[in-house]
Formats: sequence, structure tokens, C-alpha cells
Amino acid sequence: MSTITDAQAYLVDLPVEAVRTDAVQAFLKQETVFVEITTADGLSGRGYCYTIGTGGTAILALLRDYLLPRLHGRDARQIEAIWHDLFGSTRATAVGAITSLALAAVDTALWDWRCRRADLPLWIAAGGARDRVPLYDTEVGWLHLTVDELIGGAKAAVAAGRGGVKIKIGKPDPAQDVERLTAVREAVGPGVDLMVDANQSLTAADAIRIARLLEPVDVYWLEEPLPADDVDGHARLAASTSIPVAVGESLYSVGQFAEYIQRRAAGIVQADAARIGGITPWLKAAHLAEAHNIPICPHFLMELHVSLCAAVPNGRYLEYIPQLTAITTTRLTVEDGHALVPTAPGLGIAWDLDAIDDRRVA
Ligand code: MG
Repeated sequence: MSTITDAQAYLVDLPVEAVRTDAVQAFLKQETVFVEITTADGLSGRGYCYTIGTGGTAILALLRDYLLPRLHGRDARQIEAIWHDLFGSTRATAVGAITSLALAAVDTALWDWRCRRADLPLWIAAGGARDRVPLYDTEVGWLHLTVDELIGGAKAAVAAGRGGVKIKIGKPDPAQDVERLTAVREAVGPGVDLMVDANQSLTAADAIRIARLLEPVDVYWLEEPLPADDVDGHARLAASTSIPVAVGESLYSVGQFAEYIQRRAAGIVQADAARIGGITPWLKAAHLAEAHNIPICPHFLMELHVSLCAAVPNGRYLEYIPQLTAITTTRLTVEDGHALVPTAPGLGIAWDLDAIDDRRVA
């Protein structure tokens, strides 16, 4: 009765909930690709992936033309078998961002189905390490914000109980970045974690110099300092600074995390369940990190990652960026700066199906 009888995919566009800019890009809109699977017993699962503005129709085409037809007749309980069959069927386009995102939409739908069938919330089904996760706030640190806006936002985040705030860097003169960070540190005091994100904009030589300038500010991590494929540069940077190097939002397979960890190029991993290909590979990256005594602080998707962070013992921080307000009926529950796990069976996201229908574009 767990035989998959139907699988559908569609694309929904969501406007960004705040203006978001960094060193290399702006978040234009959230293209959200949904996958729904139904099994012979009438149960269903709904999963999703996203882009920040481009590629959504390519993901949809890959799903509709190649991946979803392979699901019919499969046993939905065999998530590993399905994942590897789909991956194997896309050799010519894998490892790659579009393929991993498409796999994630299927995989999260299967996990939603699995959790609903077992009547379990995701955080329990995936491990059940704890029922709340500390939050840090990214919405207060975008690159276009003035120093006064950074300070105001950081103070508000701290007042709301957040343990940390993320500040983007990438001003024309690195001295400006250091000034902005220093101003925020002076405003919030020593007890708040300051994350810094360069969005892959630096060279290794520049990053080593800037990290040295940032060390007196007591930076909690330096995120994506270099292009994601410059593993050697990350390793050299990590060896040269006391600031932990954080990577993961631009990695698309477990193997890429393994390489960073083996080469001591990352002190914090930020796997994104959509970009790595779903919950199945996300958990592998998290466990791989745990085996190396490395925390995982996932990128974006707080509505999904709250449950995954809570599932594993090394989930340290959840990134606060609300982006599903328009298509959900409940908000992330926050208490004393911690996100509480959703307790409903499934992924724990209360989709507003009418609102989703209204925003379908393909
Ligand atoms: Mg980032």
C-alpha cells in the first residue's frame, strides 16, 4: 500500500519578505518548487526546494520530464533506494545545483510522507536530539544597511533573545567592513555571537588579511569567504586564523562536505537541505560533521531546518530568515531566542494550500 501512484510538481513564486543584499547578489524572489507524492493507501507527502530567483523552471522540467516518471510503482518507504535511483538516472547533470534541488523536492516529499505515515514529527523521525534550537538573526545584517541600521537591528535581535547576528561584508574598502563590525560589537557588547558572511567574494590572500583585521572583533565564524570550489584556499585560511571558517550553502553533495572536512577547510558546516539534495543527504553531512566534532548550522529554510537541527546532536544554530509567511498558516514558534520544534506529523510546515495555488506560475 506504500506504492507511489502519483507524483506532481509545480512552481510557486514568493516575493522576498525583506530587501536582502550581499557582496555578490540580491535575493530577487523565492522560486519554490513543490513535489507531491501519493501512495496507494491514500497517504500523501509534500516536499519543496527553492532558488533565490533563477533556475526554478529548469528544476521543474527536470522533475517532470525525467525524475517523477521514475517514481510510479516505487515503494515510498525505500527512500534511500529511490534517492540513489534518481541520482543515478541523472549522471550527466550530477553533481549539480539543479539536480540536487530537484532531488531535494522529491526527498523532502518522501520524508513528509514517511513522518505522516508513522505519525511522527520530523525532528523525532530524523533523530530527536532536542526540542529547541538557538537562533541567530541574518535579517539585520544585509550589506546595504547603514551602520545605524545595523546597530538598531542587532540590538533588537539581542533584545528578542537571539544569540547572534550575521553581518554581510563586501564594501569596496575592507576597512569599511571592519568599521561596521566594530560598531556592532561595541553596541551589543561581548556576549553576542557575530557571524560574518563574505558570500564567496574574496581571494584567499584577501581573506587571510581581512580575517586578521576581524579577529579583535571576536567574530564567531567567517562564512563563505572564497568561491566554494577553492577548497585549498579555505584550508589555507582556516590554518591562518582563529576565526572558524563556515561553508556549506554552495555545496551540493555529501562528498563535497567530506572533502572540506578531510582537508580541515571548515570549522562549521552549513548544509542546506534543498541544495544538498534533501533530508537524506543532509543527515549524512550532519553525522559526518558530528564524527569530526564539527557543528552544523544550516543555511536558510528555517521552517524546515528547525526540525533537522533538533534531530542531530551537533545542530548548534538555526538561521532566522522568515520567507514562507505568505504560504503558511503558522509561524515558527520562538521562545527565549530559541526556535521550538514543530510537533505535527510530517515536515512540520503548515502550508496554506489556497495561498500556494494563488501563486502558482508553472
Ligand atoms: Mg551565506
